[in-house]
Amino acid sequence: MTSNTRVVVIGAGLAGVTLARRLGELGTPALVVGDEEHRPYNRVLLAEVLAGRYSPEVIALPAPGVLLRGRVTGIDRAGRTVRCADGSVIAYDTLVLATGSNAVLPPLRGLFTPDHELPEGVHAFRTMDDCLGLSKAVRPGVRAVVIGGGLLGVSAARALAVRGAQVVLAQQSERLMERQLDPAASALVRRHLEGLGVEVHTECRVRDVRSVGGAVRSVEMADGYALGADLVVLACGVRPRVGLAREAGLEVGKGVLVDDELRTCDPHIRAVGDCAQHAGRVYGLAAPALEQAGALAELLAGSGTARYTGTRSLTRLTLTGPGSPLGPDVPLDLAAFGETDPRPGDDVVQLADATRGTYRKVVVRDDRLVGGVLVGELGTVGALARAWEGAEPLPSDGGPLLHLLTNDGGS
Ligand SMILES: Cc1cc2nc3c(=O)[nH]c(=O)nc-3n(C[C@H](O)[C@H](O)[C@H](O)COP(=O)(O)OP(=O)(O)OC[C@H]3O[C@@H](n4cnc5c(N)ncnc54)[C@H](O)[C@@H]3O)c2cc1C
Repeated sequence: MTSNTRVVVIGAGLAGVTLARRLGELGTPALVVGDEEHRPYNRVLLAEVLAGRYSPEVIALPAPGVLLRGRVTGIDRAGRTVRCADGSVIAYDTLVLATGSNAVLPPLRGLFTPDHELPEGVHAFRTMDDCLGLSKAVRPGVRAVVIGGGLLGVSAARALAVRGAQVVLAQQSERLMERQLDPAASALVRRHLEGLGVEVHTECRVRDVRSVGGAVRSVEMADGYALGADLVVLACGVRPRVGLAREAGLEVGKGVLVDDELRTCDPHIRAVGDCAQHAGRVYGLAAPALEQAGALAELLAGSGTARYTGTRSLTRLTLTGPGSPLGPDVPLDLAAFGETDPRPGDDVVQLADATRGTYRKVVVRDDRLVGGVLVGELGTVGALARAWEGAEPLPSDGGPLLHLLTNDGGS
């Protein structure tokens, strides 16, 4: 591919902007079309904007080169053009879908007004607009209900509590962040939120949203219990944004199907980031989006050997605020990777300090590290991640494993 080749990227999020910047550095400038009116930003840091720790400018991404604001509404694969909402048409040689995800809106009674809008006070938590809307509505004493206790819900609850809201977090499953954390680590996160004044309810299903005059007043649980609410945050997961790809006849599973060259079933169209499905996986995380963007930039700029073969992604979260079990104003850091729940026959090494609120655990199978979780004390995370990513056999006497858990390993 020569530098005259026209690369058009749909989506100015982390993946699209990173790809375009890298392509620019490699002498293959791209045109990015993005439908959000804000300067491109790092979505991972939205909770810090909501908490009042960062201004929106601080989380802006470096400019991607040529950015066109607008929404792509259709792809003409035969003519190799895309159509935008304003009627304009853009030609491409290579088109990259970097359309990200949408927030999942759960099937709750009363969630939509007769005009199919969310009632006033009900917000998803995915975009800068969601964040600014929430930020405007939150003030000390406001009653906020966060629906969903995964990474998003925990981040939102913490941020709202830091801003002085009275927060109730309703989690349908038995513990917080159950996809990433084992019960002990999850209990520490819960303790942290409760220390901030958040009321956490697990195994609790919200059924209804009640509004008066188009503004939310309460949410009702499956058992009939009603919680007064001035603000409701929907943190019920995300779904890859694949509408354009599907309408264009591309192969779509949960995400847009791509191979190791991030190529869809149309050789002129690639996909990266949250919207892509590679080897059966949609990640919904920043690290794979960045790796995919990096690999695709190399490929489009002419490196025939670059490949994307999957990401072993580590989840990291820092919960700041006065509720840390480690002491006032000490952030609670956590990291989790791989399988944190052992299978029968796995070896588990665990170190817990209830007073300091720290917890470290690794799971070993057939002399290989298959997962781990660290809360409060992350000095060893780099060494553990390297051992996990390398998937090298561990020495069998157990000593080095304990060493990995207790020393910082140069991380
Ligand atoms: C609050 C929050 C916290 C998070 N925390 C973490 C974390 O701690 N760790 C982690 O790894 N990940 C985290 N994530 C997930 C991470 O942000 C995503 O994995 C990452 O942003 C994916 O990047 P992307 O470019 O694929 O998608 P996105 O960032 O969603 O960007 C896609 C862009 O494409 C635009 N777009 C879509 N369709 C069109 C169209 N037709 N025309 C024009 N533009 C279009 C969208 O509006 C959007 O701007 C978090 C996400 C949120 C919301």
